[in-house]
Amino acid sequence: MATTSTKRPDSNNTQENLPPWTLQDFEIGKPLGRGKFGKVYLAREKQSKYIIALKVIFKQQLEKYRLHHQLQREIQIQSSLTHPNVLRLFGWFHDEQRIFLMLEYAARGELFKELRKLRCFSEKRAATYIASLAKALAYCHERHVIHRDIKPENLLLDLQGRLKIADFGWSVQSTAKRKTMCGTLDYLAPEMVESKAHDSTVDNWTLGILCYEFLYGFPPFEAETQEDTFRRIVKIDLSFPSTPPVSAEAKDLINRLLVKNSAKRLSLEKILEHPWIVKNADPSGTCREGQ
Ligand code: ATP
Ligand code: MG
Repeated sequence: MATTSTKRPDSNNTQENLPPWTLQDFEIGKPLGRGKFGKVYLAREKQSKYIIALKVIFKQQLEKYRLHHQLQREIQIQSSLTHPNVLRLFGWFHDEQRIFLMLEYAARGELFKELRKLRCFSEKRAATYIASLAKALAYCHERHVIHRDIKPENLLLDLQGRLKIADFGWSVQSTAKRKTMCGTLDYLAPEMVESKAHDSTVDNWTLGILCYEFLYGFPPFEAETQEDTFRRIVKIDLSFPSTPPVSAEAKDLINRLLVKNSAKRLSLEKILEHPWIVKNADPSGTCREGQ
């Protein structure tokens, strides 16, 4: 009894030699979303009452796509990352058919739902998110967790409006899929759409794309067809609409990130020192709803 009372989803039970988690430890609530391999549910650990998001993945699906080894590796990577802007993976367990990932709960859900609702964000809000992303990516790059494909559906918000990058480790697989299948190319760097060698500077490109989309409400190289988006990306066919009015400093940051030569893109450290970020980003990283 003494051991189970200290069992909490957000503490390291393996190290403390506590019994492994099972589905019986949780009350399951409403579905939060649907993923490629299963669903995500709101859940509460019965003893501590700690709220988490429980991602359920069917083993059969993993086998079908031969992804079980990748999942194992990615679980290891993501559970070792602890940063305020990276969604925590507290732990995992399994039964006959399913694997359960215990994730930090992001109460305000997908950032892009708020963007679509408001159409575009204020410069303060956009800068706060870009700074949060730059900090999270710098933390990950330091740990040699690189080449993360920051797609919009995977940016979540917690109750305070703090940005959380979700699905950190899944990028290699999902990017390959996106190039060959029907998904959007909008967030991919020129070297990626051209299938050339690439490194962590693809993330800096994506920050430029996201910064533009936060401020204008649509990504800069949007087009009717994938072929046209492809052409616009490799040509860097970039223009700034006259409405909404956006400051010259914001445009300057975007121009320094959407650079074809990846070595010349502004570094994550320099993004954080950029005058637009310094002037606009909220140091607490939080954003109130509807602003
Ligand atoms: P991937 O993005 O790697 O392809 P996926 O799309 O299969 O994975 P997720 O992105 O993890 O699955 O989850 C699907 C949806 O469930 C998310 O887009 C989001 O709306 C919701 N969701 C996932 N995790 C959480 C969470 N921790 N808190 C709140 N909502 C979540
Ligand atoms: Mg997803």
